[in-house]
This record gives sequence, structure tokens and C-alpha cells, in this order.
Amino acid sequence: MPDSKELDKKQRYEACVCDSGKLYGRCCAPYHGGLAAPTALTLMRSRFSAYALGLCSYIVATTHKESPLREADLEAWITSIGRFCAATKFDGLKILEEASDTKDPAVAFVTFRAYLRQKENDASFTERSRFLYEDGKWYYFSGDCLDSIGKV
Ligand SMILES: [Zn+2]
Repeated sequence: MPDSKELDKKQRYEACVCDSGKLYGRCCAPYHGGLAAPTALTLMRSRFSAYALGLCSYIVATTHKESPLREADLEAWITSIGRFCAATKFDGLKILEEASDTKDPAVAFVTFRAYLRQKENDASFTERSRFLYEDGKWYYFSGDCLDSIGKV
């Protein structure tokens, strides 16, 4: 697994895999390098590209400490993220909606469709993710899969 500095150098001038239409160096690279993503949407995009680039530690670092998706065994969690990244082709990302909680500015939602393939099978899904802002940073908290209720 290449480390983020190597990736940064190599891919800085390529289109970012989060489908923003920007170069990686001007899109998700600064966040992967340690800059706090300024909005839930930029965090969401940078997490998608981190999955696509196999940056497991970024996924861990941007998952809220009380997220139900966080695993107690950190090493096992990183291994399972790495396995998912390696077994998956990340074909694209479509942002469907970005919304903030009207009562709480520290809560935001991003609805997206991720276009994925695993062993040539379509593994795409639509999710409404919940993000929390804490100590000057956005974190991923949880997500609801929307495919089962026929949205999109
Ligand atoms: Zn990006």
C-alpha cells in the first residue's frame, strides 16, 4: 500500500477520483495531507477518494470517535478497510444532496451515489451520510443506505 506522500506526488496532476472535475492536487490531496476539510461535502469527497486510493488511515482518522462504524480493534479495522479497497473498483461518485441540520450547525448530511464494482459485479449504492463537526473538524458519523427504499 503506497503512503499518502507518494500518492500525492504521483497523482497531484491527475483528475481527482472523487469526480469533482478538479486535479487531485487542488481537490482532495490537501485533506489527505492533513488539512481539515472545511465542509461535510469536501470531507465526503475526500473519504471517497481515500477509499479509492487505499488510504485506510484517513478513513479511520475522519470517522467520529463515537461512530457505530468504528471498530474496537483498530488493526483489524484497518485491515478490513484495506481489503475492501483492494477488492473494489471505484468508478465514480455523484453527489445528490447536501443539507445542514436546521437546528444544529454541527450536523450535516450528504446524500450520494457511489459507483463501485467488485469482481465485475455492480456494488454501487446510494447513501445518506451524517457528519458531525467537533473541535474544528468534520467527521463522518453514520450512513443510511437508501437503495432498499427505491430512491434514485
Ligand atoms: Zn477530490
